[in-house]
Amino acid sequence: MVETKYIFVTGGVASSLGKGIIASSIGKLLQARGYNVTIQKFDPYINIDPGTLNPYEHGECYVTVDGHEADLDLGHYERFLGIETTKANNLTTGRIYKSVIDKERRGDYLGKTIQVIPHITDEIKRNVKLLGNKFKFDFVITEIGGTVGDIESLPYLESIRQLKWELGRNALCVHLTYVPYLAAAGELKTKPTQHSVKELQSAGIQPDIIVMRAEHNLNENIRRKVAQFCNVNEKAVVQSIDAETIYEVPILMQEQNLDSIILEKVGLPVSDTPKLGPWRNFLERRHAAQKKAPIHIALVGKYDLQDAYKSIREALSQAGTYNDRKVEVDFVNSEKLTDDNVAEALKGKAAVVIGPGFGERGIPGKFVAIKYTRTHNIPTFGICLGMQCMAIEFARDVLGYADANSREMDEKTPHNVIVIMEEQKSITNMGGTMRLGAYECVLQKGSKAYEAYGKEHIQERHRHRYEFNNNYKKEYEAAGMKCVGINPESDLVEIVEIPTLKWFIGTQFHPEYSSTVLKPHPLFLSFVKAAIENEKGEQATTDKQ
Ligand code: GLN
Repeated sequence: MVETKYIFVTGGVASSLGKGIIASSIGKLLQARGYNVTIQKFDPYINIDPGTLNPYEHGECYVTVDGHEADLDLGHYERFLGIETTKANNLTTGRIYKSVIDKERRGDYLGKTIQVIPHITDEIKRNVKLLGNKFKFDFVITEIGGTVGDIESLPYLESIRQLKWELGRNALCVHLTYVPYLAAAGELKTKPTQHSVKELQSAGIQPDIIVMRAEHNLNENIRRKVAQFCNVNEKAVVQSIDAETIYEVPILMQEQNLDSIILEKVGLPVSDTPKLGPWRNFLERRHAAQKKAPIHIALVGKYDLQDAYKSIREALSQAGTYNDRKVEVDFVNSEKLTDDNVAEALKGKAAVVIGPGFGERGIPGKFVAIKYTRTHNIPTFGICLGMQCMAIEFARDVLGYADANSREMDEKTPHNVIVIMEEQKSITNMGGTMRLGAYECVLQKGSKAYEAYGKEHIQERHRHRYEFNNNYKKEYEAAGMKCVGINPESDLVEIVEIPTLKWFIGTQFHPEYSSTVLKPHPLFLSFVKAAIENEKGEQATTDKQ
């Protein structure tokens, strides 16, 4: 057991450079050396958590097993490291302030004037060390959201400065910057990097390692220049070049010895470089799969933004690799889907995902897509709202309840097949009403879902307010839509499927959150396999025509 070491990952020049990927890669490399590692994200915004944020603002909201609505970077941490994160792995300025203000109201500060320094910074420092103290991690990596120079980042930078001072060799800072290429001059420019390091230095932090994100290879001269101007060892200046996949980044970092530089800096022995066997196998399999023609899977939803369905895209891509095919996810905007254009919109798609979501916008298009895939026997995976839409569409079209809907239970709207449960009605604030986090589910033997998981008891993560209305269960089952996954405590329906179709499954939970690189999710594996088989079948039929 070593003393806990703290690695801070900051970013400069621009946002979206991939701090989360660098933090995850560092974590992966240290984990491969046998260290117990965790990663946490501190976000400088004032929201208490990203739960109430529109996906257009901040991408997908990731959910941890303990029911925290978290920043999507926690998804990267879990996918790379295969660890489970919790509420303690994600903090925001809002939560820091709330905790300080709550303490102030309780009188904990004994009449002192509460200030950013030292009260807010002390609270940040306490939280940085929380996981390390509680679970005795060897390494705690803390990613600071935003870019240095932002007003909101200042209390975090001051906290890092103090921690580096207090912890000495047990803390270090990795600063990620961007090196633009000016095509007209044919040159890579390091000036923005120098400026952003200066910004960090003016906050009293000397970065120990600089990672430069670039679209072109950085030569020795550039590294030397940055080392000289930024007071960093030349070998601690590392490049992060655009990679074909983010999962390549740990390998690229290892090739430049990023992990051994870290070990040297914190005074740990540098033993043999780990081979990363399973990781490399995954990458090789992925490369081989990329060479074949891709399989097209439609993702029907309303958020036309890559990051809004991040975990679903990753889970599909991982399942593709393990099925030896590249999955091309084609976004289909449900707001634009009608009975007249659905055939064209879903043409050539081997399977369809009906995405999760909130609000009524885009829902009619989801019904259109589901009716089409159900009646044309196209593999379909409904996730959360997607599953609820599957149930409503079935009630309208098969059970004959044209008014089937999802509302609060009341007498005026008789056919609410998806309902808000009694206990959730009274709570009015947005974040607090939901069923969040991991819940148990018992699978019915013989079902496709059971076949995929290969076991009866599973646990999956939830983030929703509405539930399948059990009053209709018998009718559904008699008409062919089976409830094959049930929460044993509440009897709530977690999975529906139509066993007579090739693959038609809806899950009330979000399986995408628990799919990792080395442990792809069984439902996604089975779904992509069905997509491939469907494509083969389609081809055979076309060949015969
Ligand atoms: N809006 C739906 C509910 O709250 C579905 C949520 C989701 O898809 N995550 O139940």
